Amino acid sequence: MTKRDYYEILGVTRNASKDEIKSAYRKLAMKYHPDRNPGNKDAEEKFKECAEAYEVLNDPQKKQRYDAYGHAGVNATGFSGFDNINDIFSHFSDIFSGFGGGSIFDDFFGSSRSSGRRQRRQGIPGSDLRVNLKLTYEEIADGTEKTIKVKKYKTCSVCNGSGAKSGSGYASCSNCNGTGEIRQTTRSIFGQFVNVSECRTCNGEGRIIRDKCDVCQGEGRIKDESTIKINIPPGVVEGNYIPLRGQGNVGIRGGYSGDLNVVIEEEKHKYFIRDGDDIIYNLDISIIDAALGAEIVVPTLKGKSKLKIESGTQPGKRLRMKEKGIRHLNDFGRGDQIVIVNVFIPTKLTGKEKEILKELAKSENFNPKSKTKSDKDFFKKIFG
Ligand SMILES: [Zn+2]
Ligand SMILES: [Zn+2]
Repeated sequence: MTKRDYYEILGVTRNASKDEIKSAYRKLAMKYHPDRNPGNKDAEEKFKECAEAYEVLNDPQKKQRYDAYGHAGVNATGFSGFDNINDIFSHFSDIFSGFGGGSIFDDFFGSSRSSGRRQRRQGIPGSDLRVNLKLTYEEIADGTEKTIKVKKYKTCSVCNGSGAKSGSGYASCSNCNGTGEIRQTTRSIFGQFVNVSECRTCNGEGRIIRDKCDVCQGEGRIKDESTIKINIPPGVVEGNYIPLRGQGNVGIRGGYSGDLNVVIEEEKHKYFIRDGDDIIYNLDISIIDAALGAEIVVPTLKGKSKLKIESGTQPGKRLRMKEKGIRHLNDFGRGDQIVIVNVFIPTKLTGKEKEILKELAKSENFNPKSKTKSDKDFFKKIFG
C-alpha cells in the first residue's frame, strides 16, 4: 500500500504552523475517534493514519526529514506509524485530555476512557467483551438503569493481579535482560541492520514470575461472574453501542482491561411501532364512535390515556398525542404518539342489526353522495 502525503492527510499546507497542524489533527481525531465509529475498520485506519501524520509533522526533526526525503526519510528514524490505537491515546494524551479536565470524549454516553489505558503497558492486555441488551420502548423512552451479569476475567484477589505467590515477586528475564526485546544485528554491504523482536521467554514482559500464584496459575486474573450497572440514556436505537471502558476482561498480570461493549436491541412491543422518536399506535374504533365522536382510552408508554375522537372521523385519520413518545437522545424534548384510526366494520350481523342498517341506508347522510355528486359535476364539465 502506498502511503499518502502527511500534509494531505491532515489537510494542511506545507507552510502550516504548529498550531494549525495541531488543530487540524484534533478535528480529524475527533471525527475518526473509535468511540464515535464503533466497529468501523475504515475509521480506525484513518484514525491511525492521522496520528502518524501528526506525529511526524509535530516533531521538528521528523518534519525536517519528511520535507527533505519524504516517507523514506521518516522510516530511517525508526518510526513507522501506530499499530495499536491505545498507543495513540497514550502518546498524544495532550490531545485526548486536558479539555477542562476530562477527555473531550468523556461525555459520550457518559463513559470515560479509564486512566489505566494511558499508563505504560505492563502485562498483557485483556480482550473486549460484547453483550447484547434488550430494552423495551418504555425503558428507551426515558432512559433506564440496567444491571447485567457478565462472565469475565477479574483481578485475582489472592495475588492482586501480579500472578506471583505472595512474597515471591518477579525476576528480571535473563534472556532479554529485562527489556522484553531481542535485538539481532546483521551486517551487510549496505551497512548494519538491527532486527528487534519480542522475547519469547518472557513474552515481551521483561520479567518472569519466581513462583506462580496457585489460584490463578500466574495469570493474575480469574474468570468470574460480575454484576455491572449500566446507565442507558433515553432515545437509544437498536444497534447503538455503549462502550464501558475498562469493564471487559482484565489483562494478564496487570495488563490493562478491555472494554465491555453493550449493544442495544429493541424488544418488539405488544401495541406500538417505533418511528424515530414517535410511537405509532393503530386504533380500531366502531362505526358508531367514528360517526358520533367519543372519548377512548388508549395505551401509551406511560400507562393509559384518554383520546378524543371527533364526530365524523374518517378511517386512516392520524391523531397526534403530543410528547407521548420517546425522549430525544441528543436533544431536548420528545417524540409524539401517533394514533392511526381504523374504523371497524362488523363481519357478523344479527337479523335485527341488519334491519337497522337497512333502515339507515335510506338516509341521505349514510350515502357517500357528496363525493359522487361532485364527480358527476366534474365529468359533466369536461364531457358536456
Ligand atoms: Zn493469583
Ligand atoms: Zn525476556
